[in-house]
Amino acid sequence: MAHNVTLIPGDGIGPEVVAAARRVIEATGVPIRWDVVEAGQPAIEKYGTPLPDSVLEAIKRNKVALKGPITTPIGTGFRSVNVALRQSLDLYACVRPCKTYPGVRSRFQAVDIVIVRENTEDLYAGIEFERGTPQVERLIPAIAELGGKRIRPDSGISIKPISETGTRRIVRFAFDYARAQGRRKVTAIHKANIMKFTDGLFLAVSREVAKEYPDIAFEDMLVDATCMQLVQRPENFDVMVLPNLYGDILSDLCAGLVGGLGVAPGANIGESGAVFEPVHGSAPRYTGQNKVNPIATMLSGVLMLRHLKEMAAADHLENAIAAVMAEGKSVTYDMKPHRDDPTAVGTSQVADAVICKLEEVRS
Ligand code: NAD
Repeated sequence: MAHNVTLIPGDGIGPEVVAAARRVIEATGVPIRWDVVEAGQPAIEKYGTPLPDSVLEAIKRNKVALKGPITTPIGTGFRSVNVALRQSLDLYACVRPCKTYPGVRSRFQAVDIVIVRENTEDLYAGIEFERGTPQVERLIPAIAELGGKRIRPDSGISIKPISETGTRRIVRFAFDYARAQGRRKVTAIHKANIMKFTDGLFLAVSREVAKEYPDIAFEDMLVDATCMQLVQRPENFDVMVLPNLYGDILSDLCAGLVGGLGVAPGANIGESGAVFEPVHGSAPRYTGQNKVNPIATMLSGVLMLRHLKEMAAADHLENAIAAVMAEGKSVTYDMKPHRDDPTAVGTSQVADAVICKLEEVRS
């Protein structure tokens, strides 16, 4: 039976990288009925909003989406579509695999880390109070009264909520993911020695949840020590689960370990749906040039196929993409030793090369 998948081309370079990814996914032979919906600039032009309700409904209906990047318009009053999508659909888990492939320039080999970042709480919950406002004037004495701590009167204040509920579901998600993907270990990252009631809660709940998964190893590590270990021995890490802020920072650090934005796939997942998308943005200045690297979106497609339990097709596609990168011939400018290399190919030619490799594997 065909899978129903919502396809959101996005804007900027989105439509080009999504078209390339769609072609290689179709070439795996997995039957997919694409439900194409517009978000971002094309939706503003047509419907006056970058995120029409029909997009949210399509994701809820089909449960799975492949999405291109979407520009956050500056100074227009529109919120980021990406943040709005995550919040409206409660996509609480941000999954970022960071893996080295031969042919991709990086300082390390044998890195294969999956970052599982909590997407809804922590200092990114958006609970902020601006310096000098009446709210801050009331908060400062209230905090002094409740906790005995003095805050300077000219402070801005951001609140860091971390709940047992939010932690339990993200840590369970990380263990379920590890189990489903045949991984060995989950590491919980925190700063529980300093923030006892937020990171301390995250750690305590992580330890409790770990007991439900005796087949998967568990360890915890302080976030500062983790940063050092990651740049010294990244091969020691497997699945990492982190609160929102550390997850944001460490997922970029890990993307850097394995070759950067052009090859970094991602997903945002919750009970109401799973949205697969590259980590990079809409790179507006390259729009329509058939120039940028579609591999991050293709690898997001590999994650999507695994989510759909199409394991063999996902493996074939990942191997075909890896073979094209290892050969280094049919790759975009950013993967060549010099960015002005005249042998660099365009976005759609990378898709042609991946499809050739898929056919070679089949014949
Ligand atoms: P960006 O990732 O779009 O681009 C930064 C630079 O990275 C580009 O100039 C380009 O040199 C390089 N790059 C990015 N993708 C590439 C690719 N596929 N191949 C080769 N090189 C690539 O980041 P930005 O300029 O900060 O953001 C542009 C817009 O994208 C902003 O409006 C931002 O809000 C939005 N954005 C959207 C998402 C999303 O939709 N999930 C994520 C990040 C940024």
